[in-house]
Formats: sequence, C-alpha cells, structure tokens
Amino acid sequence: MKLFNTLTRYKEDFVSIEEGKVKMYACGPTVYNYFHLGNARPFVTFDTLRRYLEYRGYEVEFCQNFTDIDDKMIKRANEEGVTVKDVAERYIKEYYIDADGLNCKRPTYQPRATESIGAIIGIVKALYDKGIAYVIEGDGVYYDVTKKEDYGKLSHYNLEDLNPGGGERKASYDGKKNPGDFALWKFKKEGEPSWNSPWGEGRPGWHIECSAMIKKHLGDTIDIHGGGQDLIFPHHENEIAQSEAANGCTLANYWVHNAFVNVDGEKMSKSLGNFFTIRDIVKHFPYKVIRFFILSGHYRMPINFSDELLRASQTGLQRISTSASNLKFALSSDSYEGSNEEASKVLDDAVRESVDSFIAHMDDDLNTADAITDIFGLVKAANTAIDSKASKASLKNALDKLTEITDVLGLDIGEDPEEIPEEIMDLVDQRAAAKKEKNFAEADRIRDLITSKGYSVKDTPNGPQVEKI
Ligand SMILES: [Zn+2]
Repeated sequence: MKLFNTLTRYKEDFVSIEEGKVKMYACGPTVYNYFHLGNARPFVTFDTLRRYLEYRGYEVEFCQNFTDIDDKMIKRANEEGVTVKDVAERYIKEYYIDADGLNCKRPTYQPRATESIGAIIGIVKALYDKGIAYVIEGDGVYYDVTKKEDYGKLSHYNLEDLNPGGGERKASYDGKKNPGDFALWKFKKEGEPSWNSPWGEGRPGWHIECSAMIKKHLGDTIDIHGGGQDLIFPHHENEIAQSEAANGCTLANYWVHNAFVNVDGEKMSKSLGNFFTIRDIVKHFPYKVIRFFILSGHYRMPINFSDELLRASQTGLQRISTSASNLKFALSSDSYEGSNEEASKVLDDAVRESVDSFIAHMDDDLNTADAITDIFGLVKAANTAIDSKASKASLKNALDKLTEITDVLGLDIGEDPEEIPEEIMDLVDQRAAAKKEKNFAEADRIRDLITSKGYSVKDTPNGPQVEKI
C-alpha cells in the first residue's frame, strides 16, 4: 500500500515496523461540544484506514484520545456552572452516539488526557533534565524550539519563517526565549483544575497530551500518525519535537493528514461559525449517508458540504443497498431459476475485476472515491446478472464480495431480509392473498399500511419484495 507522507511530501510504500502489525494514533476530539462534519472527517478517514489495514491482514493497534482538559473545556464548565469533568463526561457520551452512528469502530485505546498526567509529567521531566524545557515564573514550563535541529520538518517551516514575534501577538511572548516556544505545563490559575508536578501545581499543555498518550499506549515509535491538516502546525510539529527530544527516536514513520470540509469554499470550523454538527445533519440524513458522503471524496481533497451532495450520496448508497437486497431476494426465492451459464461467467469476471480494482485504488493512498466507483461497477454487473438469470452460486459470490468491500469502507448497506418483522411479513401475505382474489382496493390499503410502518413492497417476477424505507 502507498500512503502520502506529509513528512516527505511523497506517496511512499507503507512498510510497518513490525511485520503484520500496525501501531496508529489519531488526535481525538476536545470534548466540550457536539462534533461537526469537519471534525467527523478524520474520525471516518482513520477508521477506514484502520479497517483497510485489517482487511489486508494487519493487526492494528489504534489509539485515539479524548482531550478533556484545555481552555475551551474550562470556559464551557464556567459558563454552565459545572465541573470540567462534568463537561467531559457529557460530551464523551455524545461523542459515542455520533461516532457509533457513523460506524467508526471503537479504537483499541481511547485514553483521556486527565488519566495520563503521570506520563505527561514523565516527558516534561525528561525534557527539563536535558535542558530543552525551561520555567517561566508564574506562567509555566516551556519547550525551547531552538534545541531541536530539525524543528519544522513536518510543516516544512524553518525557525526564521516561523518568526511570529512582531506585531500585536508580541505581548504573549513575554518571558519566552523564542517566539515559537510553547507551553508543556501551565501553572495553576484560580478556579482551574490542577495536578501536582515537580515545578508546581498546574495542568498540561495540549501538544504534550498526545505525546504522552502515544508513549503510554503504543510506545516511542509508531507506524502512522493521523489527523486533520490544520493540526500539522503547530500541534503535530510540537508533538514530534517533544517526543523525539525526550525519547531520542523517531515518533512516527508516516504522517497522514486529511483535508477540510468546506462550506461555500471556506473551511467548516467552529471559529468561522459555518459548521453543521453531525447531530443537526442526522435530522435530515441518516448517519450512514454522512459516512458515505465523507468517503466519496479522496481524503486529501477538500469536500464541499451541500444538501445536494448529501442527497446524491443518499441516492448512491440506496443503489448499493437495493442491489444487495435484490441479490438476497433472488437467492432466497424458490422461483428464481439461475441457469444461464454465460451470464454466470460474465458476473464472476466482473466481480473479480471490481474487487481487484477496489484493492488497487485503496492501495493507492486510500483512494476511497475511486474504490466507490468499483463498488458501483459490481452493483451494475449484479443487477444485469439477475435479469439474465445467472446462477445462484454466482449471485451468492457477488453478494459476498459486495458485503466484503462495503464493510471495508464501513458502509451499512442494509439489513438481512430475515430482519423484516413478522408483522410486516404477515401484511405482505395478506396483500398477496387480496391480490389473488382481485380485491385490489384491499391490496392497496394493506400496501399503504406497510408503507406507514416504514417498509415498501414491490412486486417482482419472483414474488413480492419487501424493503425497509
Ligand atoms: Zn494530537
């Protein structure tokens, strides 16, 4: 597999440190609010990368953290008159509702920053003992960016370029040795949660949290570190600086970053106020459509949010689901006779080609956009094959492969027919009986009743076919 590595700016062959195993970390949410579509993109992207690596036979250890202490958390707690922990508990619960809805598999480890204070202090101490960190009285412990020669290697900035010392931000650099120095530990302010440390009571800076949780759960060097592209600088650059200076080895071999979700050409973000939370969007579109929408673009390209594109995603996903139900229905129908050998062979070949092409696209830097086109190729072949009476064995193979590759993308393409409730199946039988007696008014009445209960019934040459709407 090839992955675009932000460090080298090349698509590189992925080679894991330990054969057959992958250690992967992605920066998780700050839990002070519901997450929006822009936040959801990395969750879905790295869940899909993990699923694909597992599909290719790797054992993946995936760690995604919760930032449960920072300025925004404290502000939110003060506004609501509750503790920071209360805010974290509430929004971690809400996070799971949306992340589970989006079909993101639970990461192997999901640590909270506040449960990793020991590991955080350990790294700060290592940096302090090496003379890389220093104390600013009444402020905190800071990282001296000039102490690491290759600082800037991820963002491809150098220290002179960074020089953000002038202008209105100058005041905030008081006491720092260099403008780019950043806080590892912030001394306690009135009304803020705090922990003991060798330098005094306080709380961790944001960047150090990830460095500590990576070390604690995955070790000093990991295979893949992921996140949104807005995290490249300063967050990931600083994670590298801290971890590599403290541990004396590379933090991550591959740095993978997803592009933004845009609204009218601008990045969706809380600060711009142009965001839509997942909780808002699911009032209009199911979670599975949102996931499909996110994966319909390549992860390194911006995607534009609009109702039209979500509607197009819904139609696309529906086409895949319908094809799966048609296959299941033909397979379960006694009246389906699949005796066309030529059609069977055509289908078998098309399925093989679609799956090979799907793998080739996913191998090419997780190109989910083209991989979805391959899924549609399989769908088209399957639909044709049912009409031309391909064998049940070939249909079964097509259904198995369709399920397999849609699972890799975490797409939910519908329920098994046996999951249709008995009450609905009884109504379907009653309607069939009414039709047989040519009582069409009664048949239509029952059909409306079925529709009102959230199911559709369609008459096919192989008998009535029921689907959840
Ligand atoms: Zn991070």
